[in-house]
Amino acid sequence: MMRRLLKKCYIASQLALLTTIAAAQQTPPNERFSSCLAALRSDAASRGVSATVFDRLTRGLSPDLSVLEFLDYQPEFRTPIWDYLAGLVDDERVADALAMREKWSAALATAADRYQVDSDTIVAVWGVESNFGRNFGKRPLLTSLGTLACFGRRQAYFRGEFLSTLKILDSGDIAPERLVGSWAGAFGHTQFMPSTFLRLAVDGDGDGKRDLIDSVPDALASTAHFLQRGGWRKGEPWGYEVLLPPGFDSSVAGRGNKRPLAHWSARGVRRADGQAIGPSDAAAGLLLPAGARGPAFLVFRNFDVIYGYNAAESYALAIAHLADRIKGGKPFVTPWPTDDPGLSRRERRELQSLLAARGYPIGEIDGMIGANSRQAIQSEQKRLGLAANGRAGQKLLVALRADSPTGK
Ligand code: CA
Repeated sequence: MMRRLLKKCYIASQLALLTTIAAAQQTPPNERFSSCLAALRSDAASRGVSATVFDRLTRGLSPDLSVLEFLDYQPEFRTPIWDYLAGLVDDERVADALAMREKWSAALATAADRYQVDSDTIVAVWGVESNFGRNFGKRPLLTSLGTLACFGRRQAYFRGEFLSTLKILDSGDIAPERLVGSWAGAFGHTQFMPSTFLRLAVDGDGDGKRDLIDSVPDALASTAHFLQRGGWRKGEPWGYEVLLPPGFDSSVAGRGNKRPLAHWSARGVRRADGQAIGPSDAAAGLLLPAGARGPAFLVFRNFDVIYGYNAAESYALAIAHLADRIKGGKPFVTPWPTDDPGLSRRERRELQSLLAARGYPIGEIDGMIGANSRQAIQSEQKRLGLAANGRAGQKLLVALRADSPTGK
């Protein structure tokens, strides 16, 4: 979560980053960092962090300017939604989710009951945020947040997160060497930001500590608490896929433009699964994540609650859809409006293997499409007469399967 807040104009922010780097080059970064920390130290007491604690926890801290590169890259906003969802909600993640739901059934039931939320949505958040604890991020929180508090364009926000981190460490809930996370400081099974941790993390396993890193029950209960505090309505769906009648005026779309269900059914909107839209006054917004030609959804209050976890509609749809798939739901009925759909993680690994077999330096076959994979994809797209956009899609995968490297 908390890649939110960071989605402003890309070009302006790139300029700001260059300016930051230029300024950082004029004054040595370590010098700037020291004076910035000194200023933070004088703020710390008013935020409940004593000078003694501040000194103890920041001794020897130095900045890591590489985190600044991430400040402007957010996959939720820069990836086509069909690629984003194909990687996050694939058969592997559904299977993993079912196994985890089974393994942690007692902790999930307790959390869902205590906070009156949907347990499959908790599992879905866990699966998307950290791939069920497999991907926490590896960056020491104090280093990343100290850097972001002193360099870059969101310093005020990250100063608060830095001080929150000091508070967490001072409380003893989590050991300093365990506190690693994403570049932005989200950490643990459910990738809470430090301020969110202070506000909403709870002790799920009853050991007296709130530990989102080494306690799955704590993480599941904390997510349940987050959803409850966001206003979750137990027993209501997040929404469902719908079909629009021909000629439908899609200018009424928008998550915020909520209307009674009767409004939508009177305009010919039908559920994609064939069920009737209930005769209810529940307010629903029409979501068209890829425009009028793609899948359409009516979304209720609970969709907004998920959106609160990480303010991106694509993210909320991934969680919501994964929760449905965990319950046995089907993939969307309406295809995405593209002739080159996205790849699951299994297909991404297959694509990487096909590229590696052709001699490209792909490195680890991990399903993560990085710079090496993109470059190889682009070369092969060119060779095969496809649009050379460097994107991992079905067209290239199908073409490479049919084009054996040994046959060359
Ligand atoms: Ca605990």
